[in-house]
Amino acid sequence: MILVGPPGAGKGTQAARLIDTYQIPHISSGDMLRAAVKEGTALGLQADSYMKGGHLVPDDVVIGMILERIQKPDCAHGFMLDGFPRTRPQAEALDTALRGAQVELDAVVLLEVPDQLIVDRITGRRSDPDTGTIYHLTFSPPPAELLAKLVQRKDDTAEAVATRLAKYHSETGPIVPFYDGMNILRRVDGVGEPDVVTTRIIAVLGPVVGRPSPGA
Ligand code: ADP
Ligand code: ADP
Repeated sequence: MILVGPPGAGKGTQAARLIDTYQIPHISSGDMLRAAVKEGTALGLQADSYMKGGHLVPDDVVIGMILERIQKPDCAHGFMLDGFPRTRPQAEALDTALRGAQVELDAVVLLEVPDQLIVDRITGRRSDPDTGTIYHLTFSPPPAELLAKLVQRKDDTAEAVATRLAKYHSETGPIVPFYDGMNILRRVDGVGEPDVVTTRIIAVLGPVVGRPSPGA
């Protein structure tokens, strides 16, 4: 399955909850790219300047990274993509690869959050560098003892958010009709308490996603 939505829609927050329910790996293109930047790999060096300004990393770089990742054995019973595909060529490349592997997508969840809520969500986002847990200074406040060690992403500035939102509408928008045409698009209202949003997602996914875990 795939989680799609504007930056700050709550994809990472929801994915962390959904993996418990569905027992499939959470594959976040943004997390993978940030890890590559931190490690200083060739891929990370290529991606860094794009990410800082809120621009998309070139398709061929991201496509190669994700197609390699979903061939790993832990994806044999399913996977949850978050942040990929983000352009029509990425969606087409994924489709071709999955067809070749005879894997069918069960669902593409589109988490809908209006633009005017996004800036607040993004600028208040903080995360725990050790566990990856995502907090929000107002909406999902961290325990006081963690506050000092939380980090803010370099691209979570008001300026970069404007670029990211514009890219979302121009570049990612076209994947919506692509998946709608395949009858697997599920629109979910992303406004409300995170628990309520999780319940909404499970309500649309429940009957379609989920494979017995190995040995079950
Ligand atoms: P958010 O959580 O705000 O939606 P991500 O963590 O998914 O952001 O992505 C952060 C940045 O990483 C993006 O702004 C972009 O530069 C890069 N990136 C992540 N996924 C992709 C992708 N599929 N294609 C191109 N660039 C990507
Ligand atoms: P994405 O992965 O789509 O970029 P995140 O899951 O990182 O989004 O969420 C962005 C910010 O919004 C985080 O600070 C998170 O705590 C907060 N957030 C997530 N879901 C909600 C929600 N339902 N209501 C209010 N804030 C939320």
